[in-house]
Amino acid sequence: MNVILLGAPGAGKGTQAEIISQKLGIPTISTGNILREAVKNGTETGLKAKAFMDAGALVPDEVIVGIVKERVARDDCKNGFILDGMPRTIPQAQALVDQNVPIDKVISIEIADQVIEERMTGRRACAACGATYHITANPPKAEGVCDACGGELTIRKDDAPETVRNRLKVFHEETEPLKAFYEAMGIVTTVEGNQPIENATKDILAALEN
Ligand code: ADP
Ligand code: AMP
Repeated sequence: MNVILLGAPGAGKGTQAEIISQKLGIPTISTGNILREAVKNGTETGLKAKAFMDAGALVPDEVIVGIVKERVARDDCKNGFILDGMPRTIPQAQALVDQNVPIDKVISIEIADQVIEERMTGRRACAACGATYHITANPPKAEGVCDACGGELTIRKDDAPETVRNRLKVFHEETEPLKAFYEAMGIVTTVEGNQPIENATKDILAALEN
């Protein structure tokens, strides 16, 4: 089962991807996490990506397509994978088609922009493993410490309100048209993003079982 989680920044893709990945026993491929790791390690990809990410802009398609091509070819993806945050443009979606990467289901997690802006101010991310928390909606057991790996929880630089507004603009212009791209293939289910985390998970699992 190859799944795409589509949605605005802050819609809950990463949160749901982690839960669904454990339940289905298939890996999550988060291009955001891969890029943040590359920036942290100062790799060539990280150096290319950093300025785009800090500005809330998209990293060039060829960088993303190269990362995902290599990642889906690994052994752990042979029973399926969850793409979180990719594709974000029509050329990225077309590259998956051209590379014969089949997609079975697309879950579009939908939520109003105002709710997203509120959510982002409370987001905390593990600097070590990328796990995501929220100070009130999904707090860690111990403040500032990742439940999963004990890493330090940090505020993402691109979660600053003005950067979030830019990311939402980019989402509406570049990423939202992907819903129609996949609707033409008949594989999209829409899920309400503005509901408790466990309810959204139930809706996603129901969509994946159909
Ligand atoms: P995305 O990966 O789509 O950018 P995240 O999964 O990181 O979004 O979620 C953004 C923020 O909102 C995080 O702080 C997360 O803990 C919180 N969050 C995710 N889903 C919900 C929800 N259903 N209700 C409230 N807060 C949520
Ligand atoms: P995310 O963690 O998904 O919110 O992504 C954080 C940032 O990484 C984005 O704002 C982009 O700058 C970059 N990024 C992640 N995935 C992609 C993608 N598929 N295409 C272009 N840029 C991406």
